[in-house]
Amino acid sequence: MKILEMVKEAKTIGITGHVRPDGDCIGASLALYLYLQKNLPEVRVDVFLDTPPPFFACLQGFEAIINDGKSDIKEYDIFFALDAPQNRLGKAENLFKKAKTRINIDHHVSNDGDGDINIMQPEAAATCELLYSLLDFPDELDADIAKAIYIGIAHDTGVFRYGSMTPKTFEIIAALMKYDFDFAQILNDTYFERTYVQHQILGRALLESIVFMDGRCIVSCLSRRTLDFYHVGSGDFEGIVNRLLATKGVECAIFMYQTRGHEYKVSLRSQGVVDVAEIAGCFGGGGHVRAAGVTMKGTFHDVVNIISSRIEAQLDSRKNVG
Ligand code: AMP
Ligand code: MN
Ligand code: MN
Repeated sequence: MKILEMVKEAKTIGITGHVRPDGDCIGASLALYLYLQKNLPEVRVDVFLDTPPPFFACLQGFEAIINDGKSDIKEYDIFFALDAPQNRLGKAENLFKKAKTRINIDHHVSNDGDGDINIMQPEAAATCELLYSLLDFPDELDADIAKAIYIGIAHDTGVFRYGSMTPKTFEIIAALMKYDFDFAQILNDTYFERTYVQHQILGRALLESIVFMDGRCIVSCLSRRTLDFYHVGSGDFEGIVNRLLATKGVECAIFMYQTRGHEYKVSLRSQGVVDVAEIAGCFGGGGHVRAAGVTMKGTFHDVVNIISSRIEAQLDSRKNVG
């Protein structure tokens, strides 16, 4: 079923994505918002997301994003959750739960689907790729919608580099590039350019990283004290864990930062042998086989010990099989 078929009776539509929204989540939410407005001008469409990093202001619809999860509508006819399961929706979770029809569109292997309609495709490189395949008129987009989808796919594939890319993904990118937007500049503005602070904390994370398990694992942790010293914001960690993973010989990378007291946000990345979604899932998180996240309680050593024992168990069992 395509998007316009799903929403054909609706007068009010809500859209949201996961907390700490990334390029895919923001791109998909705004692309869907713009697409619905374009095709159904008489329908009220609201988009709810945590405050995104400011460089995403280059996307049309950015100023319409509602950050506080508040609305005068209590029960939307349709509510979309994009790139996330229900328990990661943050402030809009309640609006999603109360909606008459809930639609969940996601590519995370850890998401079983929480909606009345669930479109789960773990093989899609990005939720934006999946969303594109659900548009009724993919040939009749406009530059703003194309740009939002392009950003989402670019960000979730490390700019078209990950193994999740398929010929279909490249075909979609080729179709999007026919629209009139500056596809090189937008990647520079939203992906490659780093603030001074971001470079400093990347430097700290690399400098203080530790390799273990004969160099197959790497971990780095930034304490609350360090983050406060540099005045780091939540979007400033993007890319650090991938740089750790790019260390020669490393199979699995762990990057963590202290959210408060004995609590850490943990990012896991794998070259493919270790399934990090499975490990994050054991502690209430999730993600993909090669990229997953979770928030964990304990000291730095507690968290590293418990995660590395799971990594070791997976590496050992693979070795026995192989
Ligand atoms: P991150 O390490 O935060 O960049 O996340 C890596 C991947 O795992 C992304 O696709 C996230 O959407 C997903 N992810 C991160 N944290 C969680 C979580 N607590 N539950 C489910 N998926 C997550
Ligand atoms: Mn995401
Ligand atoms: Mn995604």
